[in-house]
Amino acid sequence: MKEDYYDILGVSKSASDAEIKKAYRKMALKYHPDKNPNDKTAEEKFKKAAEAYEVLSNPEKKSRYDQFGHQAFDGSGGFGGGGMNMEDIFSQFGDIFGGAFGGGGFSGFGGGRGQRVAKGSNLRIRVSLTLEEIANGVEKKIKVKRKIQAPGTTYKTCSSCNGSGQVTRITNTILGRMQTSSPCPTCNGAGQSIDKKPADADAQGLKVSEETVSVKIPAGVVDGMQLKVTGKGNEAPGNGISGDLLVAIQEKEHPTLKREGDNLHYDLYISLPDAVLGTSKEIDTVTGKVRIKIEEGVQSGKILRLRGKGIPNINGYGKGDLLVHVNVWTPKTLNKKQKDFFEAMRDDEHFEPKPESSDKSFFEKVKDMFS
Ligand SMILES: [Zn+2]
Repeated sequence: MKEDYYDILGVSKSASDAEIKKAYRKMALKYHPDKNPNDKTAEEKFKKAAEAYEVLSNPEKKSRYDQFGHQAFDGSGGFGGGGMNMEDIFSQFGDIFGGAFGGGGFSGFGGGRGQRVAKGSNLRIRVSLTLEEIANGVEKKIKVKRKIQAPGTTYKTCSSCNGSGQVTRITNTILGRMQTSSPCPTCNGAGQSIDKKPADADAQGLKVSEETVSVKIPAGVVDGMQLKVTGKGNEAPGNGISGDLLVAIQEKEHPTLKREGDNLHYDLYISLPDAVLGTSKEIDTVTGKVRIKIEEGVQSGKILRLRGKGIPNINGYGKGDLLVHVNVWTPKTLNKKQKDFFEAMRDDEHFEPKPESSDKSFFEKVKDMFS
């Protein structure tokens, strides 16, 4: 339920215009934000009082309010919903306190309206990296088109604000000396304006230049990660600061290695004789090929862990491992001689599966892998 406007100002329904105005002045002085810094309750009361006064000081609105109450303003724009904003309130002050408060800003609001420093816009690029580049870290030379201050452009101090970027007004009011400041409309708050610029420069004195930027990419970056190269975005006019270059990391798919966090997986296929007799095999790693030994009697599904052969952790927590999954390749067709051999072995008790406790099941191995 919305509070009654007369109650808010503490006046009766039969109060005269002068009484309403006097009541509002009292409220405005008491709850003025300059007198109650960072006090939300005071600010709320200040706003409510302003809203009430806005209605009760206007004969047409007042008569509608007297007749229909708050419903009179529902959905009628400005009121009913969000109430008044501070700019509205201060522009209304002219009527109450006699001039002085323009639209603009208001000191003490919004927290620190210091000089605005112009900042150039950010540039975004995407860089595709191989797993090897990610594992070892890499320095990439990237061509970017960035806006720079065109040679020959000169800037001068803005004469409207003397370079401060703000226009300040001090006025004597019933509340004492009040200071209002707002961004300089001439230079848009930058404090500088263009003096001279060459024909190929844009309105801000900038032009596009193609540059090669060197980006150091640390080992262990992850697909989707974004690196920031400070100051390599578009330049700003005058003594503003440059934007940043944002580099999005994209990981290229590796032909044989699959990444999972900092660990890598490799599928190794060996023949039935190799599994039976044992062998050594060359496998891919991110630092080149490595030869690994396969013990005789290796079971299909065995996972060999090569410690530290994975990806370095981006936060410096060591290196991941390379997990080699052993797959024994069963031939799909056999000639007569081979078929006879395996037929003879079929009834050989030696070929019967006899899993030992060391031959962990697939699920136990997976569990092991992530521990
Ligand atoms: Zn200015």
